Amino acid sequence: ALTAGIVGLPNVGKSTLFNAITKAGALAANYPFATIDPNVGVVEVPDERLDKLTELVVPKKTVPTAFEFTDIAGIVEGASKGEGLGNKFLAHIREVDAICQVVRCFNDDNITHVSGKVDPISDIEIINLELILADLESVDKRLARVIKMAKQKDKDALAEEPVLTRLKEAFEAGKSGRSVDFSEEELRVVKGFHLLTTKPMLYVSNVSEDDIMADGENEYVQKVREFAAAEGAEVIVICAKIEEEMAALEDDEKMMFLEELGIKESGLDQLIKASYSLIGLATYFTAGVQEVRAWTYLKGMKAPQCAGVIHSDFEKGFIRAETVAYDDLVETGSMAAAKEAGKVRLEGKEYIVQDGDVMLFRFNV
Ligand code: GDP
Repeated sequence: ALTAGIVGLPNVGKSTLFNAITKAGALAANYPFATIDPNVGVVEVPDERLDKLTELVVPKKTVPTAFEFTDIAGIVEGASKGEGLGNKFLAHIREVDAICQVVRCFNDDNITHVSGKVDPISDIEIINLELILADLESVDKRLARVIKMAKQKDKDALAEEPVLTRLKEAFEAGKSGRSVDFSEEELRVVKGFHLLTTKPMLYVSNVSEDDIMADGENEYVQKVREFAAAEGAEVIVICAKIEEEMAALEDDEKMMFLEELGIKESGLDQLIKASYSLIGLATYFTAGVQEVRAWTYLKGMKAPQCAGVIHSDFEKGFIRAETVAYDDLVETGSMAAAKEAGKVRLEGKEYIVQDGDVMLFRFNV
């Protein structure tokens, strides 16, 4: 499954956030997956549309879709040179599909900050630089090989060389791979390099309990916002401690708790949604009387592939998909009414599934 990795310097609140994630995941009892890896936490993807569909269809059960976070502990300054968990840590990042960087945006004299004072931008720069240095090393190694092969007119090498050179220049200037403007064709080449700084990233500003109750903004968060805006990255403001307390609560208790604190939506829920879409994931639904269920697919996938998310037989024997957009279904009120209104389409093998589609697959067995 596609996963987002949680990274950050020591003492910024990563473990607290990850605890919140695993507790929330453990509570989701009807969750069909199980992971054994202690560094992976599985959570339900909050989706108001699923609640609405449940109201409409009144199924025997409702199953949300899930998302995996991976805890990547141990980054310190010098990781790219093997400090701390060093290379092991970097290898773990290589396996994730997006990076959530937790940044300390709370003061607490009892909790040491690794650099001696709370400074979110300097923290971000330390981590980003480690990732850039690791990428520079990979690119240098590859470039040495590619230059030789390009001299022998190797086709792949000829395509790779200019791309690697531009990446190298960016890294040497302290910039991430994400910041380089590549064409779509070049991006396909870049993908093959499995770099760290080309993965999508968002920032998680971890603030104090008091600050989250007062709308979450503080001077540290402002700085992170400015920094992130310059790279076009998203910022999620969270109080990891409160999320951890809240994670063990049932939905209705959680809502009351949030209301008491004057918080609109839990930071963890925001983080789940943001990470999900950062990776390019989207949701379609099946809505039968037995079960209303949300399914995750990668944006751009066609109907047969999406059917394959449920079962490989659905993909192999795919005939067509009866499809209605979520909004059309809600507007008409039922599948039958949607059909009558001509809102249910018969989609074939080339149909690119849209987020929110409610689908019924027809297939040969
Ligand atoms: P990690 O090293 O990044 O995994 O950080 P931890 O999650 O272990 O947190 C380090 C310390 O900061 C612990 O004592 C936490 O209780 C505290 N902490 C984490 N999140 C918050 C928060 O949102 N507010 C406050 N006040 N303390 C926090």
